[in-house]
Amino acid sequence: MKSAWVDSEAQTAVEHYARHGVGEDLALRVYTTRLLGREPRLVLHGGGNTSVKTTLLDLLGDEVAALCVKGSGADMAEIEPAGLPALRLERLRKLRAREALSDEEMVRAQRANLLEPTAPNPSVETLLHAFLPHKFVDHTHANAILSLVDQPDGEAICAEVFDGRTTVVPYVMPGFALAKTAAAVYEAKPEVEGLILHKHGIFTFGASAREAYERMIALVTLAEERLKKSRRAVFATVQLPQAVAPIETVAPILRGVCSRKDERIEGDWRRLILEFRSDPAILDFVNGAEVLRYSQAGVVTPDHTIRTKNWPLVVPAPEGGKLDDFKRAAQAAAQAYVERYQGYFARHNARVGERKIALDPLPRVVLVPGLGLFGLGRSKKDARIAADLAQCAVEVVTDAEAIGRFESISEAEMFDMEYWSLEQAKLGAAAEKPLAGQIAVITGAGGTIGAATAKAFAAAGAEVALLDVDAGAARARANAIGGAALALKCAVTDAASVNAAFARVVEMFGGVDIVISNAGAAWQGRIGEVDEELLRRSFELNFYGHQRVAQAAVRIMLAQGTGGCLLFNVSKQAVNPGPNFGPYGLPKAATLFLVRQYAVDYGAEGIRANAVNADRIRSGLLTDAFVAERAAARGVSEQDYLSGNLLRREVTAEDVAQAFLHQALELKTTGDVTTVDGGNIAAAMR
Ligand SMILES: [Zn+2]
Repeated sequence: MKSAWVDSEAQTAVEHYARHGVGEDLALRVYTTRLLGREPRLVLHGGGNTSVKTTLLDLLGDEVAALCVKGSGADMAEIEPAGLPALRLERLRKLRAREALSDEEMVRAQRANLLEPTAPNPSVETLLHAFLPHKFVDHTHANAILSLVDQPDGEAICAEVFDGRTTVVPYVMPGFALAKTAAAVYEAKPEVEGLILHKHGIFTFGASAREAYERMIALVTLAEERLKKSRRAVFATVQLPQAVAPIETVAPILRGVCSRKDERIEGDWRRLILEFRSDPAILDFVNGAEVLRYSQAGVVTPDHTIRTKNWPLVVPAPEGGKLDDFKRAAQAAAQAYVERYQGYFARHNARVGERKIALDPLPRVVLVPGLGLFGLGRSKKDARIAADLAQCAVEVVTDAEAIGRFESISEAEMFDMEYWSLEQAKLGAAAEKPLAGQIAVITGAGGTIGAATAKAFAAAGAEVALLDVDAGAARARANAIGGAALALKCAVTDAASVNAAFARVVEMFGGVDIVISNAGAAWQGRIGEVDEELLRRSFELNFYGHQRVAQAAVRIMLAQGTGGCLLFNVSKQAVNPGPNFGPYGLPKAATLFLVRQYAVDYGAEGIRANAVNADRIRSGLLTDAFVAERAAARGVSEQDYLSGNLLRREVTAEDVAQAFLHQALELKTTGDVTTVDGGNIAAAMR
């Protein structure tokens, strides 16, 4: 591994932060923390921390010996000085005299010694940093180090590889006990450049930011070199089916078997979002004859437990054309996984005196021979994190097996980590949004109503895919939403285009739960004289478009087996025809019956079908110019024209979006039409 230190960049950081009143020590601490955080082989998703001991002024203006240490959960790659809260060093060091310190007491003691009372919680490894004497201390879970320490004889391997430059700290769970143990191990050999934490990671330290950083790079490089030597071939591949089924058919099945009925609300499901990964290294790993041994041996570093659980789910290779067999086998494997997890929880919760509350028993990583791996999470972001950590585990375990045999911490140690209150805090206690874990597809999303709907569903926690015949418009709307919002070109008048777009949604998120079939356009003409071609064009878009979208969605929903929700933008024209609007109203009337047909045919599978009838919304159909024209024709103001309804209020695209959202949340409603028009008795449903 190469050092990324550049003198001129370090100098730039010092000058930049000096302008913001930040001293050189902290500026360089930020600089090398970012260097570590930007190298994924060293640090992934909050899996490391750094500190500097310096002198700062407290709120009274007095000089204080301070420890600036990474805040819990901060991203090292993007850290700023505020991400390294400052604590009173001497008071932290006094804690070392204590025989024991509970986690809660440790957190209180740390918060009580913050120089800035509103600072984020300091790292759970703060005391380890405080008890070491060095000015700069760096900690990572470097992949190459893990491949050496995750071995039955990891300590002996490290003694040989590092040849006196490090000493090994036996495995102790992070917190006060590890801080005391590490300090004692260091003091027995004070000439070392770093500490190897068995089954966990590495600490390096130095008098300068550069020294601590360069030692990290040097020691990790030694580990990498060892991993290149005397490797043996690993992972003899099993016989795979001739044709492996593609992700777009496999993912919805996996997503379905990894969902659970919500016991509190009938008809609700706890679902997960998927992130797929595959490359030659992943394929070697998942195709290995012994995958059930090395993949089930435990996490590569304890920190991963809260994101990936202790073991991935392994399913059989999915054979093309035999998806029913695959579904049965995947279901059985997922059920066995859940039972194993529940057994693990019950055993260890009994050991700790029944104090813990079980997390959901669903896997967060699924290995699929012949295909690759999936990360799972309640959001796309969490699914990506799980996939990143799973990919890291593939690398670490592969290298460990190449020089020996991968071994993790014990099951009891994993439980203590997974159910450690301080680790749980990293996941955040924020209440989940109502559509968390769900995937919504919106057609016509480049337009006003589609965009407002996509925005409302994303705000409610769903992952959203914005489909539009105008790819640029969809992209602009998706960018405005941000996050993982997906933009796709899709012409609903073309079955191949619809199927391709849904396949892409499945590859991206794993499936589909909600569809808002919104794409449409208006044609006018007096029905007795209208050109048949024009009428057919309107039917292609305003009826068959909805049918194609609903059909593609239902196929995926049935594969998942967790119900679903089809929502349609119909029109008041379906029940209250306006003059010369037949070419628009007739296919919309057919679509209204399409809604009811889906409700009838798929209710037993838990798939609901509902519609919104909206009227007089400023949009691509009802442009500002058109509003001005109609208002002038009636001799009223534009405002009076738009609010010409019982409530005398203008109806907006956001109002329509909220109606769709409510329908998505109404778990006991199907075959329903909600009118969003401010009140118009002539257009009321009957
Ligand atoms: Zn650590």
